[in-house]
Amino acid sequence: MQLAAIVISLVTTVIGTALAARAAAYIYRVVMTGAPDTTRTGNPVQRTKTVAVEFLGHTRMNKWGVVGVAHWFVAVGFFTLVSTLVTAFGQLFDAEWVIPVIGHWLPFEIFTELVGTLTTLGIATLIVIRLLSLPGRAGRKSRFAGSIAWQAFYVEYTILGIGICIMILRGLEGALAGVESYEAAYLVSYPLVVAFRGLSHSTLENLIYLVAMLKICISFAWAATIGINPSMGVAWHRFLAFFNIYFKREEDGDVALGALRPMTSGGQPIDFEDPAEDATFGVSQVEHFAWKGILDFSTCTECGRCQSQCPAWNTGKPLSPKLLIMSLREHAFAKAPYLLAGGGKDAEGNEIATPEQLANVPAAALAEAERPLVGTAEENGVIDPDVLWSCTTCGACVEQCPVDIEHIDHIVDMRRYQVMIESSFPTEAGTMLKNLENKGNPWGMATKARLDWVKELKKETGIEVPVIGEDIDPAEVEYLYWVGCAGALEDRAKKTTKAFAELLHTAGVKFAILGKEETCSGDSPRRLGNEFLFQMLGAQNVETLNAALEDAPTKRIVATCPHCFNTIANEYPQLGGHFEVIHHTQLLQHLIDEGKLLPVNPVEGLITYHDPCYLGRHNKVYSPPREIMDKVPGLRQQEMHRHKERGFCCGAGGARMWMEERIGKRINTERVDEALSLNPDIVSTACPFCLVMLSDSVNGKKNEGAAKEHLKVVDVAQLLLDSVKALPAEPEPVEA
Ligand code: SF4
Ligand code: SF4
Repeated sequence: MQLAAIVISLVTTVIGTALAARAAAYIYRVVMTGAPDTTRTGNPVQRTKTVAVEFLGHTRMNKWGVVGVAHWFVAVGFFTLVSTLVTAFGQLFDAEWVIPVIGHWLPFEIFTELVGTLTTLGIATLIVIRLLSLPGRAGRKSRFAGSIAWQAFYVEYTILGIGICIMILRGLEGALAGVESYEAAYLVSYPLVVAFRGLSHSTLENLIYLVAMLKICISFAWAATIGINPSMGVAWHRFLAFFNIYFKREEDGDVALGALRPMTSGGQPIDFEDPAEDATFGVSQVEHFAWKGILDFSTCTECGRCQSQCPAWNTGKPLSPKLLIMSLREHAFAKAPYLLAGGGKDAEGNEIATPEQLANVPAAALAEAERPLVGTAEENGVIDPDVLWSCTTCGACVEQCPVDIEHIDHIVDMRRYQVMIESSFPTEAGTMLKNLENKGNPWGMATKARLDWVKELKKETGIEVPVIGEDIDPAEVEYLYWVGCAGALEDRAKKTTKAFAELLHTAGVKFAILGKEETCSGDSPRRLGNEFLFQMLGAQNVETLNAALEDAPTKRIVATCPHCFNTIANEYPQLGGHFEVIHHTQLLQHLIDEGKLLPVNPVEGLITYHDPCYLGRHNKVYSPPREIMDKVPGLRQQEMHRHKERGFCCGAGGARMWMEERIGKRINTERVDEALSLNPDIVSTACPFCLVMLSDSVNGKKNEGAAKEHLKVVDVAQLLLDSVKALPAEPEPVEA
């Protein structure tokens, strides 16, 4: 028995180790087929801290309650229980062998017992959770829909098997050591010690050889399996996640939200005024993604957290961020033999490798290399255009991903190529682009219309809003109010604009606007993929803002549109524009706190607040709107099920505002259905796009009789104004 156990264990170990090591080297080579990226190594101390915090604290997984805790034990057990593997090797040769020095040290034995037990229970919990939400039962609602089931179960049952072996070995070890009564060293396994105690010495020894062999074989069969499946993310993430987290986009440890990455070619930012002859615009081949992109794809665990939160997936569209990442990974690995042999295409699509270089490349890899990265099923595309254009860039996927995959950057990189080189995008969005090019706003309205709301406000309230440099000296301006295209031109959004201006006036804040000088911030064209237009609009705005604020005491800007807020605060620094930008809800909360705005009039009713993605997830502004509503007397707040970090998109982001929504349920309808389940009187938000999307849907519901007539959709500023505004004076009672 002993000899057989030794031979089988050692052979399995050698094969498993060799295959896993070969695969690790191969994964490295595949990752390095990606484009250079020199932005991933700054601040190594903070990066190391981030890895430590995210791993030891499981800070991203713990958002998922019991799953996070169970996974913590599995992850910690995976690394710390290597000691039990070492012991198993020793036991093959001597059943009583323990690790020298610490083997019989009580704290070590207790640690092994506890971690062994909790790892086993942890993986059992994860298996049960997976079984309870099998796609066969839950369909698209299952976060595992589309994941490769056998790989996940194989990994999980492997860990379960190892955990069971550890505990059986502990029982056998105790029995062999002649443990007669309960000891702390056998904290959990003592019942097994009792069960094995009656067996003979030689039987116990043989059982130890057998179980040690099983433990080793299960472990190294797993190593061999992942060795022959280098794209098996559910297994490889155990190693790759550390690198993926370390090299994440934000060196301060934040998630890859807020700004989009500047467009690069060959790892260098593109100079849009004088792009290099051979510059690549966006991503048209998998190897155009930076190496970190390919590391992202390789690391995906297929856990489906991103998918479960995605508004596109949840409304029946073909986009799932998980399936997108998995498709890119399968493609990258399938194409890799071709790329590693020197294959590739030049800008004209000609092969750059010689026939000799490609002579030994498998036919499957050559065929894979011919697949368009973005293309329909008929074109054998890797990513279907309907998948690519369904994304609202809401950030729910990035926010939830436990291994910090940067979905939005990859999606926008593919869009950039489609828009800038192929001119291939939903035609409706073309109108928006043309209007931006010609008129500087997506509706194509005349520039002077940007001041209509100013005239209306003056007529309605007598308040005059000054234009900086024309009606007010910049030196007197505390805040430059960035109105945004929707805020200036869209009727419903204009109500927010006027309410906010009236509140600023009431609070005595010295503010001014750019008036006709303002133009689109560039959020929509950038997220659509038209980086060139974004650069143009952005450069113009930065110049205008710098000139307008040159003599202002501060470069403070307040924006009512979260998209403009995000672009000016987070993306204009890429264009040399550095401003202090806040959202109007932040300023309003501040003015209330300072006592400059006093909400006194009750606004009665049940209210539910919709978090705009670009205010919440992208910029972490969650509490100011809620605190403002808290201060308004009469309002009763109730959260929708999906709120704050898990808020559900309205459907307008990522330039989706300008595209038809032809597939599945409308995202705004899904969101309004969720709001209606609370039977609110008011749905509030803090974004002009959300306001339009939600009120469109609510109006539709009213027409169908599915929403009460008095249900309102309003911006938080409108609510506050209603509460701050003096009520019309009561008529004097008439003497009888
Ligand atoms: S950003 Fe939002 S819409 Fe786009 S893939 Fe992620 S979750 Fe889905
Ligand atoms: S959340 Fe991250 S790891 Fe999980 S499936 Fe999505 S991309 Fe993969």
